[in-house]
Amino acid sequence: HMAFEGLTERLQKAMEKLRRKPKVTEADLRETMREIRLALLEADVNFKVVKDFVKTVREKAAGAEVLKGLNPAQQIVKIVNDELTEMMGETATPLNKSAHIPTVIMMVGLQGAGKTTTAGKLAKHLKKEENARPLFIAADVYRPAAITQLQQVAASIDVPVFEMGTDVDPVEIVRQGMEVAKEKHNDYVIIDTAGRLQIDEQLMEELAKIKELAKPDEILLVVDAMTGQNAVNTAQGFDDQLDITGVVLTKLDGDTRGGAAMSIRAVTGKPIKFVGEGEKMDNLDVFHPDRMASRILG
Ligand code: GDP
Repeated sequence: HMAFEGLTERLQKAMEKLRRKPKVTEADLRETMREIRLALLEADVNFKVVKDFVKTVREKAAGAEVLKGLNPAQQIVKIVNDELTEMMGETATPLNKSAHIPTVIMMVGLQGAGKTTTAGKLAKHLKKEENARPLFIAADVYRPAAITQLQQVAASIDVPVFEMGTDVDPVEIVRQGMEVAKEKHNDYVIIDTAGRLQIDEQLMEELAKIKELAKPDEILLVVDAMTGQNAVNTAQGFDDQLDITGVVLTKLDGDTRGGAAMSIRAVTGKPIKFVGEGEKMDNLDVFHPDRMASRILG
């Protein structure tokens, strides 16, 4: 993973240094923890998350009497690996599913985060994995181009779009779209909502109304990994207002240090369910925190 190269390199170096010691002293452990702390901060991991992480690793290392045991370096590597995994959320978290069709997925996020693209990727993923028959609802009425963009994405993966142009209240669009999905027995409804440049009250009120009406099984927040700590703050903001159920972290293929991927779960308590790694409809992957943690440690 490009995003984690810097971090991987630094952590490996710290661990290698530890491994070469015939005996690990209290001072060596302190030095290693200092290096890990700096590596995480450098990777743009949230300050408080780093602090808690280092504290936990240090306590576990002390509690396990690691320094007196066999292979202390190896044991510390294991503790770091376990904690990294825990910090990112252990195993993959699947999409919530309704007991009866349709399962309703509401996509939310700031403008440009990759909401519409991700809606398309997700529909394609569901078609491929479950032979699903999703319906999109175009509920972004503020940018005329948004509907056209959704239609283009939808056409490329052969998924229908319910839209009513830009002159109708988005809540009404969603209401009618849900009716259509019921009539046509679509098993998934994916609602593409409006985004703004930043979180504002009007947007949140509208999203809350859509949520109340559609009772989504899944509110997926789409955030751009390249925005680093802003992605974490955005996630916190949306979660406070809407109680999101999961996060899709996009543009992990870009020039990002990966800190958002490692902080969002710890800060918000909400899982990253998917990651976007390119502009194409196939560039969506289920997020596996455990695999990511092992890869980061190299
Ligand atoms: P929206 O405003 O949130 O609906 O964002 P869009 O879906 O229009 O995406 C904004 C831009 O980001 C587009 O140019 C997308 O192609 C691009 N994009 C979305 N996801 C990814 C990703 O995972 N990787 C890369 N490199 N680009 C992405």
